[in-house]
Amino acid sequence: MTETKNSGVSDICNLCPKKCGVDRDLKKGFCNQNNDIKISLYQLHKFEEPVISGKNGSGAIFFCGCNMRCKFCQNSKISRGGGKTVTNEELTDIFNKLINMGTNNINLVTPTHYTKKLSEILENKFTVPIVWNSSGYELPESIKLLNEKVDIFMPDLKYSDNDLALKYSFCGDYFEYAKKAIEQMVKQTKPLYINENGIMQSGVLIRHLVLPGQITNTKKIIDYVSKTYKNDVLFSLMFQYIPFNLNNNDPLNRKVNKREYDILTDYLFSSDIENGFVQELSSANKVYIPDFAD
Ligand code: SF4
Repeated sequence: MTETKNSGVSDICNLCPKKCGVDRDLKKGFCNQNNDIKISLYQLHKFEEPVISGKNGSGAIFFCGCNMRCKFCQNSKISRGGGKTVTNEELTDIFNKLINMGTNNINLVTPTHYTKKLSEILENKFTVPIVWNSSGYELPESIKLLNEKVDIFMPDLKYSDNDLALKYSFCGDYFEYAKKAIEQMVKQTKPLYINENGIMQSGVLIRHLVLPGQITNTKKIIDYVSKTYKNDVLFSLMFQYIPFNLNNNDPLNRKVNKREYDILTDYLFSSDIENGFVQELSSANKVYIPDFAD
């Protein structure tokens, strides 16, 4: 492998399951980003799970681009472009600024397509835990680059139904890849630890966003997490889905209803999963979506 002059990372990008094989100094891949890191926003985010946000907030840094293209993405303003380029030094300064503001952690939101560059920056040690807040559509070998650099993995486990994954997120192999990536995350991070102030310091928190009418998709996720990890991880069942960008007649063009909420919370409570969070239905509100810069 050769090194590029500008970025110091490998020419060819196969960082995620899309395996575009492109030189991102010359061309963008499916994630629509080259090798320069672009961010849209950083802030103390108060609406993550209580063990992540706590009272002070989570130092969230929102990266531009994404290796999935969920049709209903609520962050499409940044997931498909926009933002401002930052150097490694500027990003390190942002980490330190958030730490000085009193953040509980550094929360890297949608970081997968920058794994290599972020692993370079994370050679530096910081005084708060580093959170990898990703889609779960990742490769174990890329996750290995973060060994001893990331304290908390917070992956989504979006789909057990690959037809749904293909239809709405262009990745008909989502479940297999996400399972393998999460397996690697659990293997390489320290065990789940929440400090005396109720703030997570290490471990894995798996998130699942419930989609309207997709009860079987969610039940299979609960079954999988319950059977595979039981209480070695935290599990967060999220009900904040709001339809964005969909046609009026699309089955996902509505919020999750009370009946679906009751069925799925009952299902979770009757599973072996004991540690985690369930969002209220009222969390499906635009007030919780950050105001991203163009
Ligand atoms: S990170 Fe981007 S360019 Fe690289 S393989 Fe994934 S989608 Fe393609």
